[in-house]
Amino acid sequence: MKTRAAVLVQQRQPLELHDLEIPRLQHGQILTQILCSGICGSQLGEIDGVKGPDAYLPHLLGHEACAEVLEVGEGVKRVRVGQRVVLHWRRAPGHEAVPATYHNPRLGKVNSGWVTTFSQYSVVSENRATPVDQETDPAAAALLGCAVTTGAGVVCRNARLELGESILILGAGGVGLSVVQAARLTGGFPISVCDRFQNRLELAKQLGADRVVSSQSEELEALLAVNGGYDVVVESTGYVPFIEMAYRLAASQGRVVLVGVPPAGQAAQLPTLPLHFGKTLVGSHGGDAQPDRDIPRLLGLVAAQRLDLQSLVSGRYPLEDINQAISDMRSGSLAGRCLLDMVVA
Ligand SMILES: [Zn+2]
Repeated sequence: MKTRAAVLVQQRQPLELHDLEIPRLQHGQILTQILCSGICGSQLGEIDGVKGPDAYLPHLLGHEACAEVLEVGEGVKRVRVGQRVVLHWRRAPGHEAVPATYHNPRLGKVNSGWVTTFSQYSVVSENRATPVDQETDPAAAALLGCAVTTGAGVVCRNARLELGESILILGAGGVGLSVVQAARLTGGFPISVCDRFQNRLELAKQLGADRVVSSQSEELEALLAVNGGYDVVVESTGYVPFIEMAYRLAASQGRVVLVGVPPAGQAAQLPTLPLHFGKTLVGSHGGDAQPDRDIPRLLGLVAAQRLDLQSLVSGRYPLEDINQAISDMRSGSLAGRCLLDMVVA
């Protein structure tokens, strides 16, 4: 059995579409048919090589998707054949299987991870899949693999935002916009958002931001500054000057949560004294999301129309157009998340 897949063959080059031979399932692995996959900033980072040289090339990419389980390997207990699942990169219970290796006559061995999603079919580790109702909208489910669960976890677990606390969000990509929605649901106020793209700021407003500021503004830091500082600042761009600004804009007892990661070799410079007096600075690992617990909860909020995932989606592409999707993401022409529809009617 073969699968069409977008492969990262060389860093800083477009992905290449190839047909790959799918390996036989090993212990703890499941074979899935991808219905819909998100594209997240971390995949752009992998393509750009922000973490430095990549020892796994050529390899597959993608870590948020909705899929259907076609086959399960030995030992798999959490998911069954025929079930609809969310594929996510944070661990859930179940086996952590060895990552699958695919083959192609031209590329030879093609590596993957515990979860990859830029392909029609994907072999995934049992602990990267969480079952959902069969009727769950694939687009909504795909967003719960990374962006939305991360945003919710950043607000509720990392920042522990309380009712009426102020929050500033730097960067309004998929995660930033999910932070906005989670902050609104949690009762954060006021919610301020800063981004360089106007369309994202408009979407942020629609999703609950009280104030939006273009990062292209003159005297940006003075414009963003509020009396006493923000209770919570979430930095999701990974841009070093913004990390340093996030730290300065937080209140003396404020919490700064870093979501974005600067390219390898870049470092932020921070005066540490405020940390001794109650300011806190933490890095978020996917919002500490627990997929098996968080995904059903968030789907409940979607069903009750309290969480709007539809507005987060601003572009949908077939797998064959993945490089176009990526360049539209980079240019800022898409305000929210970009999805790949794998099953073309
Ligand atoms: Zn992601």
